[in-house]
Amino acid sequence: MSIKQILMRNFDDINFEYKGLNVAKSMSKLEAINLLKKTNLVESGYYYEKIWEKYDDIKDCKINNIVVGFNNNDDRFVQMCILEKDAFSIFEGMAIVGEILEVSKGTLYIPKEKDSIIETLERKLKEADLQGFKIEIIVGKIDSRELGEEILVHHVETAAAISAMFNLGEQFVQTKIIAVDGSVEKPGISEVIIDSNIKEIIDNIAGGAKGNIKAIVLGGKTGRCITEEDAETGSFLGFGINEINVLSSESCIVDFAKQGITKVYENTCGKCTFCREGAYQLSQILSDAVEGRGKSEDIELMEEIADEMAEETNCSFGLTASEFVRTSLKLFKSEYESHIKRKNCPTGYCKAFSIIAIKGDLCDSCGECMDVCEYDAIEGKKKYIHMIDEFECTKCGKCIEVCPNNAIVKIAANKSVGPDKLTPVGKWKKR
Ligand code: SF4
Ligand code: SF4
Ligand code: SF4
Repeated sequence: MSIKQILMRNFDDINFEYKGLNVAKSMSKLEAINLLKKTNLVESGYYYEKIWEKYDDIKDCKINNIVVGFNNNDDRFVQMCILEKDAFSIFEGMAIVGEILEVSKGTLYIPKEKDSIIETLERKLKEADLQGFKIEIIVGKIDSRELGEEILVHHVETAAAISAMFNLGEQFVQTKIIAVDGSVEKPGISEVIIDSNIKEIIDNIAGGAKGNIKAIVLGGKTGRCITEEDAETGSFLGFGINEINVLSSESCIVDFAKQGITKVYENTCGKCTFCREGAYQLSQILSDAVEGRGKSEDIELMEEIADEMAEETNCSFGLTASEFVRTSLKLFKSEYESHIKRKNCPTGYCKAFSIIAIKGDLCDSCGECMDVCEYDAIEGKKKYIHMIDEFECTKCGKCIEVCPNNAIVKIAANKSVGPDKLTPVGKWKKR
C-alpha cells in the first residue's frame, strides 16, 4: 500500500530551520540538478513536467524572477491550506530555486480570495531567513506581461516540495496534499505519495465511501469524472489534482455539473470568448436541464461547447473548466437525457422533478409530520398511513426532519413508495 500518512512537509512555523537552503548553498548547480533528477520531482498543476527538465529547457534564458502562484482551476482549497500552513517551506523553496538558477528575487502571487492573510504572510516573510533572496507578495493572478521579465513559474505546492526535498535529500519521496470530500466516512486532508491509487485513498484514508459510489471527481467541482473501476486501477494525482470528491448513488450528476460550471462563469476573467461565453451558455443549458426546461438538442450543444472550451481557451482555468461536463456526459449521458428529454431526475434530487412522499411500510401514524407542515399538505388519521398531497407540498423538507421513522423521502416524481388512498398502518405492501 503506497499511502503515506506521515507528513514529509514540516508545517512547523516555530522550528523552521532553513536547512534545505543551506544544503542548496553547499552544492554546485550540477549537484542540485542531479538531486532533482534522482528524486524525479515533478511540477504540480496542469502541465506535470519534471523539474530538472524544466530547468534544462531554460538554461539559455537569463531568468530574473522566480514566480510562484496557484492553479487557475477550481481545485484551490488544498493549495490555500499549503499557503496558510506551510508558508516558510514556500519561501525556502523559492530561495532554493533562486540559488540553483542564480536569481536573487521572487514574486509570490496570492489569490484574491486570500488577500486577508497577506499581513500574516508579510510578517512571516520578515521572519524568514532567506539569506539575501527577496520575495514580493502580490494579490491577484500571475501576469507575466505585467512583470515584464524573464520569469520561471512554479506552483505553490512545488515550491514547498522543493524545500522538503532539499531538507530530506535522496530520502525524499514526492507527495501530494489531498482533500477527500463528498460521500465518505472521514472527509479531510492527508498527505499521500504522488502515485497513490485513488480508491486506496478513499478506502484507507477517508474511511471508505458512504453507500454506493456513483462517480469520483478529481479536481474540484469542475474536475474529471471517473468511475469507481477507473479509480481502482489508476493513479491520477500527478495531474495537478488536490481534491477528490466522491459522489454517491443519490447524487445528481446534472446538478453537480450545473454547480461547477456556474462557479466557472462567476470566476472567469472574461478575456477569452470561449471561456466567458462557453461557461455562460453551459450554465444556462444546465440550469434549464435541472429546472425542467431542457430541449432535446441541448446535449449535442453541450458536447460542442465543452470541447471548444477545452481547446480554444488561453489558460488552464479555461482549459479545465468544462472537464466535468465533458467527462460526465460520456459516462452518464442517460442521466442528462433523463433530465432533458424525459423531464425526470433519476435520483429524485432535482426539485423540479421530485416529490416528497411517505413510505407506506415505515409510517406508524405518529402524526409528527402533520404538526410541522405549515401548508396542510399531509393527510392522515390515527392508525392510518399518512400521505402527502403533492399539489399542496412546497418540498420544504421540514416533515423529513421530524419523522422518527425516517419514513419521509424525496423521490423521483414518477415513483411511488406508499399508498394513494387511506390504508391502515401495516397493511401496505411494497410493490
Ligand atoms: S481561459 Fe481566458 S477568459 Fe478564461 S480565465 Fe483564462 S484567460 Fe480568462
Ligand atoms: S410519516 Fe413519519 S412523522 Fe408522519 S405520521 Fe408517519 S411516522 Fe409519523
Ligand atoms: S415537505 Fe414541507 S410542505 Fe411538503 S409535506 Fe413536508 S412539511 Fe409539508
